[in-house]
Order: sequence, then structure tokens, then C-alpha cells
Amino acid sequence: MTGRPRRALVLGGGITGLVACHRLIEDARERNIPLEVSLLEASGRLGGTIQTVREADCLMEMGPDCFLSVKPEGVALCRELGLESRLVGTNPDFRRSFILRKGRLLPVPQGFYLLAPSSFLPFLTTPIFSPLGKLRMGLDLILPRRKESGDETLASFVKRRLGREALERMAQPMIAGIYSADPEELSLEATMPQFIEMERDYRSVILGLRGRMRQMARREQSAGASGPRYGLFMTLDTGLETLIDALAGRIPGASLQTGTRAVSMRREGDQWQVAVENRRPITADGVCIALPAGPAGGVVREVSPKLAEILGDTPYGSVATINFAFRRDQVAHPLDGMGFVVPAVEGKTLMACSFSSTKFAGRAPEEKVLLRAFVGGAHLHFGLSDNDLIQKVLEEFSALLGVRGAPEAARLQRYQGAMVQYRLGHLDRVRRMEEEIARIPGLALAGGAYRGVGIPDCAASANEAAARLLDHLAARAA
Ligand SMILES: Cc1cc2nc3c(=O)[nH]c(=O)nc-3n(C[C@H](O)[C@H](O)[C@H](O)COP(=O)(O)OP(=O)(O)OC[C@H]3O[C@@H](n4cnc5c(N)ncnc54)[C@H](O)[C@@H]3O)c2cc1C
Repeated sequence: MTGRPRRALVLGGGITGLVACHRLIEDARERNIPLEVSLLEASGRLGGTIQTVREADCLMEMGPDCFLSVKPEGVALCRELGLESRLVGTNPDFRRSFILRKGRLLPVPQGFYLLAPSSFLPFLTTPIFSPLGKLRMGLDLILPRRKESGDETLASFVKRRLGREALERMAQPMIAGIYSADPEELSLEATMPQFIEMERDYRSVILGLRGRMRQMARREQSAGASGPRYGLFMTLDTGLETLIDALAGRIPGASLQTGTRAVSMRREGDQWQVAVENRRPITADGVCIALPAGPAGGVVREVSPKLAEILGDTPYGSVATINFAFRRDQVAHPLDGMGFVVPAVEGKTLMACSFSSTKFAGRAPEEKVLLRAFVGGAHLHFGLSDNDLIQKVLEEFSALLGVRGAPEAARLQRYQGAMVQYRLGHLDRVRRMEEEIARIPGLALAGGAYRGVGIPDCAASANEAAARLLDHLAARAA
């Protein structure tokens, strides 16, 4: 191809923006499209919510600590960046989790998947549910399918199929651990569409889960020795920020502009003019917006008030993580699992806790343990100072895990308005955004605000946005 190189801008230097930038550079090279790419990041560092810190000889994840391997884009990205041999799965000896009931940590029964059981014996013998609660959950086996079509909340689905106790004692804390959101507001089709499919295909969620488990077992058996190589959750030996460093290492340094906040954009002829705080505007042929929905809405206001309004209305919740390093002998609990979740009905500050040094190898030296507390979500404690919050969690650790004495390190990170909430009707709003964006040439949106909140979802959406933008730029360059 000939002519002047096209210019693409990526707004946002979290995982989404970095993947989009990397993909634009790689694919433009492959397709022989002359392209200059710049990435603008408002803060002084790359990575957004992904941040790994070393303290007290421990490897602490401030934001995400792993990603799902069943969504292929996470593992594929690591492979592409030469990080495959550094992938670490969860400790195979301790894959169970605990749940709090009336002040006691009880193991989640084997075969339980988020909302419902797939094995009968562990479910029937668990003290997590009352006999009446179990009976009500069993009704799922005979209840008819839902007649109405359209979205419903996760809470409505669970109460309808499995009853209130299943919601309060299991589904709510499990879901809060993933989405930091209230299931009374969350959209089922946007968050757990697999359960809609189960009801459609099997009528009962329990039968659906059993069917899926059998299918998975058959697949694993027929795959034999070449079967699944990864656990469900993966991380990297030196933490997830390694992914950020590897991506940044593939992008020319001059293209990565930190401390550069995009403010707005407008059309000028067939190009974009992007206004940047305290700097001259930047001209580009294509722009990929990889920002959380709020700032994205602000940037596109002049281009499409309709898109700006939908983006601006996307709700976000807040959470905080606290990484605690203790000497092993300070913790009475054997920490023989991946961690625990806390139902809201227990009225605790803690929402969940990962036993990080059990969950993944290499997080703490032999004589220490690393615990990662998750607080906030629907039950916010953000009025408290950092110190008060740490003290409250320590009190709960003392009661639940038998923790004694002060931690060697306690590192708190607040994520104010960082957890996107897929409320009822979310996918309709995404479809409306996609229709609107399809009318605007040379603009793409990517990130966790649309079709999946996890790291692999962000990578998938960045790949799609980069491909879309590159097609546009290629057509212009031809
Ligand atoms: C506490 C926590 C735990 C999580 N745990 C997991 C997990 O275990 N597994 C998992 O898969 N996912 C997890 N997630 C979700 C996952 O971390 C995010 O979905 C993902 O990192 C989002 O990446 P992003 O690049 O889209 O956005 P962000 O990481 O938010 O990055 C956006 C970037 O844009 C920048 N920016 C904002 N405004 C502007 C502007 N105007 N101009 C330029 N730059 C701007 C910001 O500074 C930021 O760096 C977690 C999230 C949180 C908050």
C-alpha cells in the first residue's frame, strides 16, 4: 500500500488499550498497511486496574489476581507474548472454597457450581442449607421452564428455580465475588447466559449442570493425555502485571504516552481531532476508545450525544482489596482451600477472601501466608479510613481464621467506581451502542463495559475493535 501512513489513536492504557494497540501494530504490519499508533493514558502508569506489587517478600495483586482459561483470549495472549511457560494454575491440592454460615467457614459442597448442585450426596449432607432450603432447591427438578422471554435479574432466576435460601446463602456471595454487584439488579443474560441455556435445554438447572459435567468428562476422556492443560483460573508466575510489561515491551516506547488525558473528540474533514488536557489536539484517522464507560461517554459527547448518554448511564460499583502478609504461625486456620466468600446476610465487612499463598505458587515464602481481602460492593464501607477498614478486616480475620497479632504488611487499594454493573437490559443497551457506533466510521469502543468484564473478555473486545479499525484504515489507505 502507498500514501501517507494512517494514524490511529488508542485511548486508555489498561489491558484493553494495550491489547488494541499491540494488535493494530501487528496486524497492520502483517497486512502491509502503513500505520502509526499512539496510546494515550491519563495516569502516570500503564495497566489500569492490573497492578502487582512486591512487599514483605510477597507477590501482591492489587486488582485482578487471575483470569478464566475457558475463555481462550487470555491464554492465547500469553502464548503470543511468549509467556505460556510462565502460566500458573490454581494449586490442584486445594481447589475447594469455603462459605461463611453463622460465623463458621464451611466447605462449598463438591459439584456445586455458582448457583446449584450437580452432585446429590455432597449437597444433601452439607450444613450450608437448612432441610427446607434443600427441599426447595430440589423443586428445580420438577418446576416447568419460564414462559416469558426477555431478560430477568439473576436474583429472580435463582429464587424462581432454587428458592430464596439458595440465593442468600450461595448465589449472592458467589456472584458478589465476581461482579461486586447485587444479584437483585444484575442481568442474567449479560452475566450468566449459560443458566438460560440450561433451563432451555434441560428445563432444570440441576439436570442441566449434571448434563454439562457429563459432557465435560466425556470430552476430557476422549482428549486423553492431550486433554485440557490448564486449570479454570490462571495467572503468571510473577503476577498479572507481567502481561502489561510484556505488551508494553512490544509497543515502541514513543507510542505510549502516559500522563495524557483525552478530553473530547470531533470530526474534522475525514479525520478525528482529539482534545487532550494541557496539550495540543491530536489528529487521527481512527480512534479506539478503551476507557471505562464514564470517561468514554465524556470523550464522544460531541460525536454522538446518543452514544454518550448510554455510556454515561452505565453504572459502576466500588471495591477495595487489602493484601495481608502474616507469618504462618499467626494463622490458626489450615488455609486448605482457595479462600472464602461471605453472604451479605452475615453482615460482615469482608465480601470475600483469597488464600493467595495457597491458591497460587510463588505468592509468599514458605514461612509466610498471603491473604487477600475483598471489601465493598453492594455493602460499601467506604466511609471508613484505610486504617479503620484494615482494623475491621483484621477483627473478622481473628474470628474466622484465628489470626493473631499485627500483619507484617497490609496494603489497601481502593477501586472507586471501577466495577461495571451489568444491570437488567444491559445487552439491549450494548446493542444500541453497537448500532450507533456502526454509523461512525473510524471509531471503535472496547473494554469490560460491554460484553464481559474479565481480562479475556477485554482482550477479545480489543482484538475486535482493532480489526474493525484496521479495516476502515485499510479501505482509506487503498
Ligand atoms: C478489584 C478488581 C478485581 C478484579 N479481578 C478480576 C479477576 O480476578 N479476573 C479478571 O479477569 N478480571 C478481574 N477484574 C476486571 C478486570 O481487571 C478489568 O475488567 C480489566 O482490567 C479492565 O481493563 P481496561 O483496560 O478495560 O480498563 P482499566 O483497567 O480501567 O483501564 C482504563 C485506563 O484508562 C485510563 N483513563 C481513564 N480516563 C482516561 C482518559 N480520559 N484519557 C486517557 N486515559 C484514561 C485509566 O487511567 C486506566 O489506566 C477485576 C477488577 C477489579 C477492579
